[in-house]
Amino acid sequence: MPDALTDNLPNSLTGSPAAPQAAASLRVILAGPRGFCAGVDRAIRVVEEALRRYGAPVYVRHEIVHNRTVVEDLERQGAIFVEELDEVPANAHVVFSAHGVPKSVPAEAQRRQLDYLDATCPLVSKVHREAERHFREKRHILMIGHCGHPEVVGTMGQLPPGAVTLVQNAEEAEQVKPVAEPLAFITQTTLSVDDTAEIIDVLRRRFPHIDGPRREDICYATTNRQAAVKTIAASCDLMIVIGSPNSSNSQRLREVAERAGARRAVLVPKVSDLDFSLLDGVGTVGLTAGASAPESLVQEVLAELGKRFQLQIEERQVTQEDVIFKLPYPLA
Ligand code: SF4
Repeated sequence: MPDALTDNLPNSLTGSPAAPQAAASLRVILAGPRGFCAGVDRAIRVVEEALRRYGAPVYVRHEIVHNRTVVEDLERQGAIFVEELDEVPANAHVVFSAHGVPKSVPAEAQRRQLDYLDATCPLVSKVHREAERHFREKRHILMIGHCGHPEVVGTMGQLPPGAVTLVQNAEEAEQVKPVAEPLAFITQTTLSVDDTAEIIDVLRRRFPHIDGPRREDICYATTNRQAAVKTIAASCDLMIVIGSPNSSNSQRLREVAERAGARRAVLVPKVSDLDFSLLDGVGTVGLTAGASAPESLVQEVLAELGKRFQLQIEERQVTQEDVIFKLPYPLA
């Protein structure tokens, strides 16, 4: 296991002689990459930099990323989270979340002369531009994604009503009756890679001339986290995915783990939500975190496991990530 991982852990977590003799042993496989992606890191930096420059409060429309721990930490620094712009007072600074917003939101902010910052992940913005290009080129768009997810609402909201039809699964892909042709498809960035490939296969079979990306619009972080989980799942009696229930990519990690052979997979927002009875009879635990979950939550789970078991920790890193996004204007 890489030194960087073990260096910060107390001896009791690393199986040193200091661990209690009576503790049962537990093998823990850490999936890598896991946790924060570049888009989440940037969105949090946007709020923190706005607080530093303008002072508290800074308003944030919707959870900046889908993680309660992150939201509560920013609240302590002076951020106020709201769901709609009408909750933001005049002359306030407001940040739009990483998931992106419909065009109507910045338009409304301008109308009210609010000072706004857009923390939309650049990989979501790229899908917005793709949708606009298809619309300009007179294609009807099928968007593969989950109804009601803020990213889907934001992407569909780049275009007039009726320009995009949502397709949520392979059954819907089999049945969809496009209102116009030619066609194009785009996807949410945080979907299951395998489910999306199946849906695209159906669309390409039914509509051979459909335009779209070579594979899909799923981002590098979602792809890498799912690949890492697939690598370790079959070795795990239990896979713990750290992440919030409203985090799409965290939910997908849990599903991917079960499909890839983990005997059981659970989504755990933070260590106090972990039911330790799930570890009865477990020999190997996999541990990962969704793209919006901070590494501190992983370390807290390891620390609690270390109080109960003699841990043998290893990490399987399927790829290294070095993506960093610059802050948006005017913070850059
Ligand atoms: S999960 Fe992907 S699309 Fe979403 S914020 Fe992270 S990098 Fe951007």
